[in-house]
Amino acid sequence: MARYSGASCRICRRENLKLFLKGDRCYSDKCAFERRSFAPGQHGQNRFRKPSDYAVQLREKQKVKHLYGVFEAQFRRFFAEAERVRGVTGATLLSMLERRLDNVVYRLGFASSRTQGRQMVRHSLVTINGHKVNIPSYQVKVGDIVSLKEKQQKSELVADNLQGAARRGVPSWLELDAKAFKGTVKALPNRDEITLPIQEQLIVELYSK
Ligand code: SF4
Repeated sequence: MARYSGASCRICRRENLKLFLKGDRCYSDKCAFERRSFAPGQHGQNRFRKPSDYAVQLREKQKVKHLYGVFEAQFRRFFAEAERVRGVTGATLLSMLERRLDNVVYRLGFASSRTQGRQMVRHSLVTINGHKVNIPSYQVKVGDIVSLKEKQQKSELVADNLQGAARRGVPSWLELDAKAFKGTVKALPNRDEITLPIQEQLIVELYSK
């Protein structure tokens, strides 16, 4: 399945939630969800039917997939892995998605969105413990140091991103040293630190059918 390449704002409107897919624009009054908070399309404002349980579960899964920008096959692999690990499957799944390197680059504020974080990782602009890692789905571990390559540290884009990110804040499981352009993974993310309204149990129910 190809990655969705259409208008990101339509996804937020479809999922009825701000997913912050477009960086700074999401915090401005240009945000399409703020301006038109109803589903896209001709019948977007005519939502009268009560959705089925299946539809609700499916939408929840789609929402999380879009939020982290992952393929269906990769999402299923994450879910299978979360099922294998001891603990609550839904919470483990979210923790694994949070630990993706592209998400960490975004969470630290080096990138303005996860999409941009993924691009930076793919272009080999990010290192882990001094080694180049260009796999966006790489799972960070406690103690890992995520840094930007020296050339990238002088980029105006990164300086702007770090300024913009100050208003979102860095989650407590990460520690940012903005002057050194590096972040340390202090702990694994726990469920409470993912503040968007996600009902992961619905995803577990969907995949358990
Ligand atoms: Fe979603 Fe608004 Fe950002 Fe568009 S600008 S991606 S609608 S949060």
